[in-house]
Amino acid sequence: MRSVTVFGATGSIGESTFDLLMRQGGRAAYRTRALTGGRNVARLAEQARALQAEIAVTAYDECLSDLREALAGSGIEAAAGAEALAEAADRPADWVMSGIVGAAALVPGFRALQRGATLALANKESLVTAGPLIMQTARDNGARILPVDSEHSAIFQALLSEDMQAVERIIITASGGAFRDWPMDRLAEATVAEASTHPNWAMGQRITIDSASMFNKALELIETHEFFGIAPEKIEVLVHPESLVHALVGFRDGGMIGHLGAPDMRHAIGYALNWPDRAHLPVDRLDLAAVGSLTFRAPDPARYPALRLAREVMETGGLAGAAFNAAKEVALDAFISGRIGFLDMAGVVETVLDRMVGQGALGKGALSLDMILEGDREARRVARAVVEKTGRT
Ligand code: NDP
Repeated sequence: MRSVTVFGATGSIGESTFDLLMRQGGRAAYRTRALTGGRNVARLAEQARALQAEIAVTAYDECLSDLREALAGSGIEAAAGAEALAEAADRPADWVMSGIVGAAALVPGFRALQRGATLALANKESLVTAGPLIMQTARDNGARILPVDSEHSAIFQALLSEDMQAVERIIITASGGAFRDWPMDRLAEATVAEASTHPNWAMGQRITIDSASMFNKALELIETHEFFGIAPEKIEVLVHPESLVHALVGFRDGGMIGHLGAPDMRHAIGYALNWPDRAHLPVDRLDLAAVGSLTFRAPDPARYPALRLAREVMETGGLAGAAFNAAKEVALDAFISGRIGFLDMAGVVETVLDRMVGQGALGKGALSLDMILEGDREARRVARAVVEKTGRT
């Protein structure tokens, strides 16, 4: 029987993973080592009971008593906090979903790779923050990473049995997010509610706002570079409002292989769950005649400064990815809590990167996990100070 662990089980990726596990046989087919969540302990307990998990872990100590109460009589262990999350990763699950949002996913994913697990990686922040270390840890321990971001799953599938030497370019597509057709002069006043709606995908709030600002695509540019080991100048972004072509790979013979599918994360998750097989998945089938046409356009650099910043980060290397992601997380929190405007987010991130470059704080060469975590903390500290200066109140 296969064994699984799901980090971030109560989130958007986690719920889709749970849905597939249940459809594919639930507790009769999978031994669930651990499920983790954050504040939604009632849902976490429901999922843990349904899959008869060995342990349920909340990220927050103050949620532990509620989790214990919700699990009473089930025989399922309960735990809380960052160390408990890391220990959950040590439990011997064959397949581990990394579905926590933000850099908090880094340590659990790292620990799962250290014991040679297959890591289904939805959490792009792990590769942005610690790409070389994550990839090296997987190689050193015979672990496998299967990308779950829809673009990266698409690239992975387009590259099956292809020679990387023959790859000329990779194109990742972007819907353009909530504001793709807004006039630029309205963006400064965009509200959190407006930024939290996505034209095509149903996702967690943070990634939805990151889609509107294109920070999500910026993270994905770096993720593509780190995961596929491809030079930054060979990676392109195209705005594709229909979100049906997820990525394209161009080869040196001039041909391209693209991957199409309905905008439903259960495709990429189900692909990673069943790899190397393809299982029947409960996603809509495309009716291309009904779709009629697919459109593409180049992203406007003035509208999406995050893409330029991502390219600078790839050029800088060292701790630039960790600083970029950490500053982005702080800026996003500040936008969500109404302390800065939508357009201020990119300004905060750029200022943090400039300061840290100026201080020589981004380093070069191989980085340990501790160095990366320290870089992340330092970037958050600088970002909070920058937000303070930028803030509306
Ligand atoms: P959600 O916000 O919907 O879910 C996040 C999950 O992580 C929840 O289970 C949440 O718990 C938990 N969580 C939140 N904060 C912490 C923390 N500090 N420590 C531990 N756990 C925490 O996010 P998504 O599912 O949208 O995204 C998850 C990851 O997948 C992100 O990295 C995102 O970029 C990536 N991704 C998501 C896609 C999507 O379609 N949603 C598509 C491609 C990639 P709780 O809710 O109980 O508080």
